[in-house]
Amino acid sequence: MVTIPTVTLNDGTVFPQLGFGTYKLQGEEGTQAIVSAIENGYRLLDSAVNYENEREVGEAVRRSGIRDQLIVTTKVPGREHGYEETIHSAHASLERLGLNRIDLYLIHWPNPSVDRYVETFRAMIALQGEGKVGAVGVSNFTEAMLTRLIDETGVTPAVNQVEMHPYFPQAKLRAFHASRGIRTESWSPLARRSELLSEQVIAGIAAAHGVTPTQVVLRWHTQLGSTPIPKSATPARQVENADVFGFLLTDAELAAISGLERGRLWGGDPETHEEM
Ligand code: NAP
Repeated sequence: MVTIPTVTLNDGTVFPQLGFGTYKLQGEEGTQAIVSAIENGYRLLDSAVNYENEREVGEAVRRSGIRDQLIVTTKVPGREHGYEETIHSAHASLERLGLNRIDLYLIHWPNPSVDRYVETFRAMIALQGEGKVGAVGVSNFTEAMLTRLIDETGVTPAVNQVEMHPYFPQAKLRAFHASRGIRTESWSPLARRSELLSEQVIAGIAAAHGVTPTQVVLRWHTQLGSTPIPKSATPARQVENADVFGFLLTDAELAAISGLERGRLWGGDPETHEEM
């Protein structure tokens, strides 16, 4: 089992430098994949109402027998934005998870045309005050949206989970996060596999360190100060993906990997893309 190092979030939460994505992990097979990830050392689990797998995540947490060591994430979906709606959504998530606390609670997408993310965040802060939620954060927020949230609520989100991989390194947003003490979390950190893992530059660096291309990509995330949440249904890949803390990329290697930048891969610009 790999021991994944931690960082401390702006609210004092001890947070893994690498976590586990669960999108598409459903049913008994999905539960078993999540149990396997926990056995392989993952302590941060990423779920969402819209992944329709909170029951599976909760079941895996119970089977693991180490609930207190885990950070369970779920997210408020767009259709449940609003103060009362969010309180209701959180209680429904807790019920499906079968847990008494959501350790990291995120707004899944800002949905600016709906314009209810500030009141949504206020409800999350209230839930945090009651102990139903641990850390509060957001996903897919821009610098302007984060600034507004902080100005209007007085609370800085602990995390912003955004699309990030070598094709979209998010340098500007990461610099803003660093200036405000917001932890970056990378979704689709492997660019959903795509052609990323066959890029020559990554293959060359992998060979130089005696590791796999996937490990190079995940180490790049952690050295840039982001927590990647790779998803794998395969136990051997789960081990491979977590075992990235035994080597260091040089500044030149980090820059060469970031040089693959080409932009967002799936058109998920938070100014225009909305999810319910
Ligand atoms: P990803 O983690 O970049 O890639 C997952 C794909 O890579 C799967 O097909 C997996 O296959 C494969 N893979 C994993 N490890 C591998 C390895 N070592 N070698 C070869 N292939 C490997 O993509 P993702 O699932 O889209 O993103 C990760 C998580 O981010 C999601 O599960 C979800 O929790 C979160 N997410 C959040 C948002 C948001 O809006 N906040 C959006 C998208 C995703 P196998 O499973 O077959 O191994």
